[in-house]
Amino acid sequence: MLRKPLLLAARSRACRTVVERTPLTRAMVDRFVAGEALPDALAAVEEVTRDRLVTLDFLGEDTSDLAQAEATVTAYEDLLAALGEAGLADRAEVSVKLSAVGQFLGSDGERIALDNARRIAEAAKAVGTTVTLDMEDHTTTDSTLGILRELRQDFPFVGAVLQAYLRRTEADCRDLSGAGSRVRLCKGAYDEPESVAYRDKHEVDRAYVRALRILMEGDGYPMVASHDPRMIAIAGRLAADNGRSADDHEYQMLYGIRDEEQKRLAAEGKRMRVYIPYGTEWYGYYMRRLAERPANMLFFARSLLTR
Ligand code: FAD
Repeated sequence: MLRKPLLLAARSRACRTVVERTPLTRAMVDRFVAGEALPDALAAVEEVTRDRLVTLDFLGEDTSDLAQAEATVTAYEDLLAALGEAGLADRAEVSVKLSAVGQFLGSDGERIALDNARRIAEAAKAVGTTVTLDMEDHTTTDSTLGILRELRQDFPFVGAVLQAYLRRTEADCRDLSGAGSRVRLCKGAYDEPESVAYRDKHEVDRAYVRALRILMEGDGYPMVASHDPRMIAIAGRLAADNGRSADDHEYQMLYGIRDEEQKRLAAEGKRMRVYIPYGTEWYGYYMRRLAERPANMLFFARSLLTR
């Protein structure tokens, strides 16, 4: 019931102002976001990579300003250089939202996003790590997969996210299940219409398993991005059925969610990667985390009422 209004609020400037000005928001955000600046992110990477892998997201999305897109690219270049210098690039990669690097900047947006993503991929290559393109709402899927194809010609290590709730995703999984292809499969975090997406939770779960089966049966590198114990158990069985070793697939969860389970999976010898966001543009990311779990919202509302 709360999911739709929260996801609408995630894109509202007015709601953003209210939430950002609420004093207690900060403490809530800290659960999901590693901090605002590069040193905060590096401290989180140092801590988490003791037993897990990480992917870092410099927060930002829906950029309507060329200078902001440029600043985001610079932030990724600085981040990747710092990971290299700290000797962490073998355990840390980056995740990039194309809308943060210019995808929506008018008729030139796709070209700008591609050029900017190339610069990030170049910086990743220089320190020996990888880049994964996050997937945003369904209006961007074709554009994002088109940019992925272009990027992979020069940087074959670039991967992408596919969202199981989209009706098109099984076909996209088939297209992207070849050798060398890295696909992060998630359920999907946006409010999508029935015409393009499954909206019932059980239908989404079934779609996730179908998509996962295609990726596990293929020759690529599946990245199982879910906190759902059932999906994780099924992924383990599908990996075993398809003769995959612990090295040719991985599990991924978000920073601050099911931390003990992350550690348990890593201790079992599984490749476990944590998605760590940082930066000042946390609003959209934070609202999607509230929308995913009503308990997060109730906790937030209670803290507002008892201020
Ligand atoms: P659910 O059925 O939603 O949750 C299963 C269980 O996980 C819940 O019962 C609860 O115990 C726990 N849980 C889930 N979410 C929360 C939460 N917010 N707070 C506390 N507990 C929670 N979505 C996109 O649309 N595009 C992307 O590019 C993208 N990238 C992602 C990258 C990673 C590494 C991960 C893990 C997720 C990503 N997502 C992305 C989000 C994803 O689509 C889901 O919205 C999110 O992961 C919740 O789905 P779930 O598979 O965990 O299952």
